[in-house]
Amino acid sequence: MDHFLYRDGVLHAEDIPVAEIAAEVGTPFYCYSTATLERHFRLFDEALAGTEHLVCYAMKAASNQAILKTLAALGAGMDVVSGGEYARAKAAGVPGDRIVFSGVGKTHDEIHAALSGGIRQFNVESEPEMAVINAVALELGVKAPITVRVNPDVDAKTHAKIATGKSENKFGIPISRAREVYAHAASLPGLEVIGIDVHIGSQLTELAPFKLAYEKVAALTEELRADGHDIRRLDLGGGLGIPYERNNEAPPLPVEYGAMVKETLGHLNVEIEIEPGRLIAGNAGILVSKVIYVKEGEDRKFMIIDGAMNDLIRPSMYEAFHEIVPLKEAEPGVDFTKYDIVGPVCETGDTFAKERNMPPVQSGDLVAFRSAGAYGAVMASEYNTRPLIPEVLVKGDQFAVIRRRPTFEEMINRDTIPEWL
Ligand SMILES: *Cc1c(COP(=O)(O)O)cnc(C)c1O
Repeated sequence: MDHFLYRDGVLHAEDIPVAEIAAEVGTPFYCYSTATLERHFRLFDEALAGTEHLVCYAMKAASNQAILKTLAALGAGMDVVSGGEYARAKAAGVPGDRIVFSGVGKTHDEIHAALSGGIRQFNVESEPEMAVINAVALELGVKAPITVRVNPDVDAKTHAKIATGKSENKFGIPISRAREVYAHAASLPGLEVIGIDVHIGSQLTELAPFKLAYEKVAALTEELRADGHDIRRLDLGGGLGIPYERNNEAPPLPVEYGAMVKETLGHLNVEIEIEPGRLIAGNAGILVSKVIYVKEGEDRKFMIIDGAMNDLIRPSMYEAFHEIVPLKEAEPGVDFTKYDIVGPVCETGDTFAKERNMPPVQSGDLVAFRSAGAYGAVMASEYNTRPLIPEVLVKGDQFAVIRRRPTFEEMINRDTIPEWL
């Protein structure tokens, strides 16, 4: 559920007509709903009620400071995957003991910054990384809390580019080697082993792969405890999918996920940590764009819009589907037309949808991409010297630009000219 609904035929973001925001901000832009962000965070928090837990928002999904502050105010932790994200989380006021550091390639400097600034735990992905965390901790005279990310070798049944839990993926250490790696970790004086981490992929639409992975983690917990490790926290990663096609998809709900977690791991008496990204931000954001031209091809119609692959890369990168709707709801009985919906970028990949059935549109009309809040703005680039598009946050009947569009001059002035030119 989200808060982008038609009222009297006009698409609203909470209590504001989206077209009013467009008139002020210009298109294209991202628009987020505070109520939806909050609702999704609470769904997870409530799904784990009764169990000691922390929901750490995977901020790579959407990392604007205003979004982070909105979630942090509800008590969210953050899952970060770079020094930049760590700095963003701190800048948004998230205390270090609510920040988890994930990712396969944490550098010495990133580890140093996180250990100095405070960290809940590092999710360690390899033995070389473990050695560096140990060394930095000893340098700083502290103990680094760690889990080891295990790769359970389960098929997440999702798009190949976002599956992370098979043995052929670069993530984690094989679960078969876990005991050996934990023994090694326990021997390093700069580390404090506190738990186990697993994350098998993104946009999962079934519970079964999660359950399979968590059963393996449960068994490993008992083994590691028997080996003498104090396993007191399980980080279960993120990955729960969202319905991009509302009428055809019904991925499990957070409450169902939470029930499965309790059933699979409840007997272990551990603190549970989860790292949802997409489910919190995905349906909390739309991308608003304007139709520039409608071009009649030989056998198809092209809807050329001012948004492009550099603003939202998911369709070209993952063959992702986004519902695209007009800001003015179609009149009942109107004949729909099929459009290929494309952006202005000079790449054939700059295609958002083929033969999409839509009410007829004209140049100047506004459309919204639904479910664009996660992995949208954060993956944008300035390809074709197109400015990064603004982000807007709505709360009730108020809205604010939370990142403005840079001017061409600002973009150009980031280049510097060597003295020989
Ligand atoms: C990407 C990622 C997540 C979030 O995944 P979603 O599908 O957005 O929920 C969580 N944990 C880790 C380690 C990740 O890499």
